[in-house]
Amino acid sequence: MEQTRIGVFVCHCGSNIGGVVDVPAVVEYARALPNVVYAERNLYSCSEAGLSSLKQGIRAQRLNRVIVAACTPRTHEPLFKNACEEAGLNRYLFEFVNIREHCSWIHRKDKEQATEKAKRLIRMGVAKASLLEPQEETESNVIPAVLVIGGGIAGMTAALNLARQGFRAHLVEKQARLGGWLPHINRLCPTDEEAARLIDSVIREAQAHERIILHMPATVQEVSGYIGNFHVTVAEKEGKCTFDVGTIIVATGAEVLQPLGLYGYGRFPNVITQLELEERLRPPPSPSPVNDGGGKRWESTVFINCVGARIPERPYCSRVCCMTSLKNAIRLKKQNPAAQVYVLHRDLMTYGVEFERYYRRAMEAGVRFLRYDIERPPQVVGNGRAEAVVVWDTLRGQERRLPVDAVVLNAPLIPASDNATLSRLLKVPLAESGFFLEAHVKLRPVEFATDGVYVCGTARWPADVSESIAQAYAASAKAAIPMRAGAVTAEAITAFSVPERCMGCGTCVVTCPYQAIELRIANGGHVLSGTEGLQKQVAWVNVVQCKGCGSCVAACPSKAMQQRGFTDQQVLEMISVISGL
Ligand code: SF4
Ligand code: SF4
Repeated sequence: MEQTRIGVFVCHCGSNIGGVVDVPAVVEYARALPNVVYAERNLYSCSEAGLSSLKQGIRAQRLNRVIVAACTPRTHEPLFKNACEEAGLNRYLFEFVNIREHCSWIHRKDKEQATEKAKRLIRMGVAKASLLEPQEETESNVIPAVLVIGGGIAGMTAALNLARQGFRAHLVEKQARLGGWLPHINRLCPTDEEAARLIDSVIREAQAHERIILHMPATVQEVSGYIGNFHVTVAEKEGKCTFDVGTIIVATGAEVLQPLGLYGYGRFPNVITQLELEERLRPPPSPSPVNDGGGKRWESTVFINCVGARIPERPYCSRVCCMTSLKNAIRLKKQNPAAQVYVLHRDLMTYGVEFERYYRRAMEAGVRFLRYDIERPPQVVGNGRAEAVVVWDTLRGQERRLPVDAVVLNAPLIPASDNATLSRLLKVPLAESGFFLEAHVKLRPVEFATDGVYVCGTARWPADVSESIAQAYAASAKAAIPMRAGAVTAEAITAFSVPERCMGCGTCVVTCPYQAIELRIANGGHVLSGTEGLQKQVAWVNVVQCKGCGSCVAACPSKAMQQRGFTDQQVLEMISVISGL
């Protein structure tokens, strides 16, 4: 058996570590540890000179394990692992010890104790390194096709972006037509462009593209597999259809709250929603211009914002409604400059320079803004139809009575009713609000924690058309990365189960946040995929899906689940050398 030869490289990190920790003393200490055949110190281990010295040490000293005691593995571990590989050493025979954040930074005022702690951490690292084993990374092919769920503006943009790049796109839409909500919208803000012109051209292109396969009306029934190899079953009118894709984009959109029972909606015919107003404002052949149905023009219209939004059961701001009120209030003033148009709001959310300008345009056009208090919400009064809105004006501190021909309710976007079903199918999470939850709003936007699955548009959170399009480009660009590469490499620090110890309880299956584990039938300790003549079920980890988070290892009651690079034996050895001191 090959003798274990460990090299320890201790970094000064300039004065970051060297100003507190006695680095020469730590190197001397490391030299005397079991299996350590070489130790040195570097001013900056991550510099060109430091990395050359590391590679030189591996070759000259025939090192088969390496420890760098330096800063944080979060940023520097790949650098040192790459250097090991360049020197001919398996990158998983490398161990990182953090003596900056864990010693010099937090014990800055106690140099002696900081030095002592650095020695102990290195001792633990050496104990673990002696038990490290080389690991192989797994490569898996990626099918150059995408499943896009949702045929609104976000879904079609994502599908087209990928189709134009040469990928096959399966576009699944539950309705019998494409476009989502946009065909119901009159104009876009702040450009005032006709919505129909945009959506019609995108629909035409999506329908005509040779690499876009439309499934419509259709719903996704089943999804199995992992990044690169998802197997999808879709239910269509003609029956079931199955296909394989490498990535998935969720662009299912949102719904609009129906404000039944609020502010006279459903009771007074002249209380309508913003969406209903959009329909009336659209050019022919849509319903005729705004009037009371009998031909009388509206001389007084009141918009009420935040209808059913920013309340305990729906605490979020829907973001797009304030701008929609501005847009339609301006349009009403354009159609009839003498008309009274009021926007009743709790706060006006006109974020960004463009929308702030839009707000000014509305004021200049003569739209009146009046702030109401959620404790004293507006009252819509009338007899058979809404005749006035009575509202407490918080700025003037007085009650106002506004006669109305029409009241327009601005209700928020809400999560689509089938989000929960889709979240179960794709094994991706929903936020408390019911919208889809991306991996990290800043670090990993439009991506789910599950590799190969992305989200964009209002399925993620209320967004306007331009934001939905931008997100669709972002999601499709991310989906294109593995499909263009043709393969993904999985980390080797993954979990594995020991079949002899596993009792098939399934605790690990429900614990894994990445759905990487399933129970499979085992026979004589060998995991089989068939089902005949078999004795018991044991856990099986899909290493392509596993992120090496270790949750399943901690949860397993039988110690059957282990993690490469962090086996029980390695961790216990670290504890044992430190507790024996
Ligand atoms: Fe899942 Fe984490 Fe266990 Fe891997 S280590 S199988 S990601 S729980
Ligand atoms: Fe249960 Fe552990 Fe087996 Fe998972 S590995 S099924 S937690 S015994």
